Amino acid sequence: MQRLFICTDLDRTLLPNGKQAESPEARTIFARLVSRPEVCLAYVSGRNLSLVQEVIEEYNLPSPDFVVGDVGSTIYHFNGDIWQHYQNWSREIAPDWQGLNSIDLQPLLADIVNISHLTLQESDRQNRFKLSYYLPLEVDNQALRTCMNLRLQKQNIAASLIYSVDEDKGIGLLDILPASATKFHAVEFLRCQLDFDYSNTVFAGDSGNDLPVLVSDVPSVLVANAHEDIIKVAQLQGNMNNLYLAKGDFLGMNGNYSAGILEGIAYYHPHTKQWME
Ligand SMILES: [Mg+2]
Repeated sequence: MQRLFICTDLDRTLLPNGKQAESPEARTIFARLVSRPEVCLAYVSGRNLSLVQEVIEEYNLPSPDFVVGDVGSTIYHFNGDIWQHYQNWSREIAPDWQGLNSIDLQPLLADIVNISHLTLQESDRQNRFKLSYYLPLEVDNQALRTCMNLRLQKQNIAASLIYSVDEDKGIGLLDILPASATKFHAVEFLRCQLDFDYSNTVFAGDSGNDLPVLVSDVPSVLVANAHEDIIKVAQLQGNMNNLYLAKGDFLGMNGNYSAGILEGIAYYHPHTKQWME
């Protein structure tokens, strides 16, 4: 049996929660495909586990074998009964923070946090390997991140500091993660742990935090609804031998969201088309 490892982002990749239309039958076909015994499925998301579970219900998505959550800082495995922390991943990323957790990191940054008027995000947005703050939009986030990084480096802590904006709330978001806790490293780690190689792995995504995977050696699909800026960057940086841009007109579908995922999987693995029909 030739196995297939399918890893996909959720928001605006598998989930049709963007502006573009979804082909009506696409998610049903996706569910049919991943129900095959050959397929191992991982959802790779910025969401935490409970928010992933919420959208699985809301959009009636197939239950995956793995969830890579919190932008790569957690991996969970479904053991048929409950979701369990994939401890091998925690062990893999823990050395970046010298064995410290996000609570241990707070006092190291306290004075910077005070001066810059940062506030801690809610407890359900924190975890052992994710320390998250709100910051006012007027704060120079580049300078702030440089300053925090220098402080952490002095303690030999390797962190990535990721800034984004919550447009709805008009506030900045700062996530401090172990340097290796990215979607890319998490996908590569799982792939190796599960004994898949590039010939039987496909990743799908749509936006900035998917780019490191999209432009890597992992065979990837950029769904057709991706923002044109992302498409341009991916084309510039990616290797077009292992980056497929969904364009639609596959099984009569438009290439957006799950239709794009299916189109890409069929491109790399033509035999799977018969599992979709
Ligand atoms: Mg997305």
